[in-house]
Amino acid sequence: MAPRSFLKPALHPRGWLPSVLPVSRPVDALLDFLRSEEVRGVTHIHLDDQAKELLRELHRRARAPKAAPVRSAAEPARAVAETPVAASASPPAPAFVPAVSAPAGASAAEKIAALAAQAETWAPARKLGTLRTTMVFSTGSPEADLMLVGEAPGYQEELQREPFVGPAGQKLNDILKAMGLAREQAYISNIVKFRPATPGQTTNNRKPTLEEMASCLSFVRAEVEIVKPRCIVALGGTAAEGLLGLTGSVSAMRGKWYEFNGIPVRVTYHPSYLLRSTSVRDKRAVWEDMMEAMEKLGMPISERQRAFFLSK
Ligand code: URA
Repeated sequence: MAPRSFLKPALHPRGWLPSVLPVSRPVDALLDFLRSEEVRGVTHIHLDDQAKELLRELHRRARAPKAAPVRSAAEPARAVAETPVAASASPPAPAFVPAVSAPAGASAAEKIAALAAQAETWAPARKLGTLRTTMVFSTGSPEADLMLVGEAPGYQEELQREPFVGPAGQKLNDILKAMGLAREQAYISNIVKFRPATPGQTTNNRKPTLEEMASCLSFVRAEVEIVKPRCIVALGGTAAEGLLGLTGSVSAMRGKWYEFNGIPVRVTYHPSYLLRSTSVRDKRAVWEDMMEAMEKLGMPISERQRAFFLSK
């Protein structure tokens, strides 16, 4: 039988597992999937670079000595709602990462600029040797009520030195527009401030590792302290893991409030997942998360907005 391609539209929100699988542990789901393909007579599976990198990460984690629960770098994940569904992650304990020094400046914009300047030469990130050297910090208003946090810059973001300017950024702009917000009215950032490197890299991107996220997390904390958003939305499972220490599927993380530095956080699917998905249910799910954020911010929601992506 011909090799079967690991086609993107069939991928799980975390990027590489088929969405129909019950993901108790990603590695179990992957093994189940491979076994079922074998039974169907499939002999070859194509893995893209992102899938390969995730497999390497699973391998590294499996070999790492058991670390103390969750991160020493991230805030303890606190589900504010009753059910703490998503379990805490057990990443390899990241090396000690110093806090950033208090950024100088009178206004929030000046402080963010000073913080970005510190990030340019941030030793904990540089020391890893796995991140590229162009620093991409944040965009939007440093006085915004809404903060959006992604994982790391990609090819386009690195070229333009601005988060979320590629196709996922376009999707994010559409989501903000549907909320009645211009991109400039939100504060948009990433956990990792450098594009994760891969051997022989061209335009391909990979998700950041836990270690890479831990190396930059002090910046996110400082950004939150400066911007003082009233609500944060974590875009995708990787951002949720880096920010809150959550693991599991995004669908299990959604639907409740968490906290980061005392600020309410909602988790939703990454915009790039929506680019791959043809499901109206996924679009509606993100939209419901965004309406929760709008309610938290006291933004009015029209009947028309409430009906987005509902079947007529
Ligand atoms: N994905 C992210 O998580 N961040 C970006 O800046 C772009 C794509």
